[in-house]
Amino acid sequence: MSDQPAPEDPRRSVPRTDALLAEPAVQAAAERLGRELVKDVIARVQGRIRAAELPAADAVGAVLDALPPTAGSLRPVLNATGVLVHTNLGRAPLSPAAIEAITAAAGTTDVELDLATGRRGPRGEAAIGALLAAVPAAEAAIVVNNCAAALALVATALGQGRELVIARGELVEIGDGFRIPELLETTGARLREVGTTNRVALEDYRRALGPDTGAVLKVHPSNFVVRGFTRAVEVGELAGGLRGTGVPLVADVGSGLLRPHPALPEEPDLQSTLAAGADLVLSSGDKLLGGPQAGLVLGRTDLVQRLRRHPLYRALRVDKTTLAALEATLRGPVPPVQQLLAAQPDELRARARAVLERLTAAGIDADVVDAPARVGGGGAPEHPLAGVAVSLPAGFAEPLRRGQRPVVGYLEDDRTLLNLRSLAPADDAALADAVLEVAAAWT
Ligand SMILES: *Cc1c(COP(=O)(O)O)cnc(C)c1O
Repeated sequence: MSDQPAPEDPRRSVPRTDALLAEPAVQAAAERLGRELVKDVIARVQGRIRAAELPAADAVGAVLDALPPTAGSLRPVLNATGVLVHTNLGRAPLSPAAIEAITAAAGTTDVELDLATGRRGPRGEAAIGALLAAVPAAEAAIVVNNCAAALALVATALGQGRELVIARGELVEIGDGFRIPELLETTGARLREVGTTNRVALEDYRRALGPDTGAVLKVHPSNFVVRGFTRAVEVGELAGGLRGTGVPLVADVGSGLLRPHPALPEEPDLQSTLAAGADLVLSSGDKLLGGPQAGLVLGRTDLVQRLRRHPLYRALRVDKTTLAALEATLRGPVPPVQQLLAAQPDELRARARAVLERLTAAGIDADVVDAPARVGGGGAPEHPLAGVAVSLPAGFAEPLRRGQRPVVGYLEDDRTLLNLRSLAPADDAALADAVLEVAAAWT
């Protein structure tokens, strides 16, 4: 107890590890989280007692308080950045339906077994079926680990030792130093660049075709825009120009919209891109589609078969939990990313006012402001989305991020902004709780 004098030598009174491990609540935690993890926590608590920062009598409570909620260290974070698909925050939050499907598939599961016959079954057939149902213009599909893997597979299977024709304006760096042209070249494909940074014409593509052409590649510049004196060749025009040449047209659309989205008129989608004449279309599963990390390849049956039979496919295929989550995302209720995209400014303001009421009642200097949001690395660069933020003094940002339930907002004009456009309405209460907790710790 803090009102008792500290013992002469705190080291003497440090509780032993096995004594602490024998405490029923600690023992239960060791069974759930693993003995080594709990021992690490115990060692830290013993260190604090030794340093006379903690009375020995509080050891058990301190251990229980310091235990992580799960054996993994990744923690749920409230995304108040205003960036809907935030790469640093794990991109798309999964729908409850997808999370349930993952849980169901996580143990031993019939991912490659036909339970009716007892024979080996095709892997991922249900997820593929869901993809084909969602994108009727596709004849066939496969799923790999991410869109970069899809590009690597396509470049290897269609372009190794041959040429991939691509516009100079589409040689994109996707983030963290990764560049699509370098990725393509590591597969042993040669890039045949056409046009200039700002302009390319159908004739440029046509002149580049030859006996060595493996494919023509169109990459959606999903994280930048080029404005001014520009010209690109749309998929439809390019497909028309390639007709009869036998050269496949592959379009990487990035974001994974299944169909055109009214709020994102510039963003290409899988269905329209195939309908316009692409032979294969590639996208991520965890951007605007709102599902698990995955790379989707859809299109012509013969080309998809070539990819599936390529040895590299085996190194890139996805696991049972990804297949489960993808299927549930496609067949289940509207996933969170799509809900966030659909949010209206009036709703956002009403939500923000409800949060504000709780904060001002506690005497916190808070306000509600309009604050633009964006889709994020996932697509639609420079396309502003309406957003509404709770504004707080700047000093809130760091403690909120480091709190029990971390909240990531951003600083603007010396205020901490918590933008609700990127947060599920069901998390508003937890956001307010986190702010109240920070404020309570200050008083
Ligand atoms: C994001 C993106 C990629 C990379 O996708 P990952 O799923 O992150 O591998 C590739 N191409 C485009 C056009 C993208 O937008």
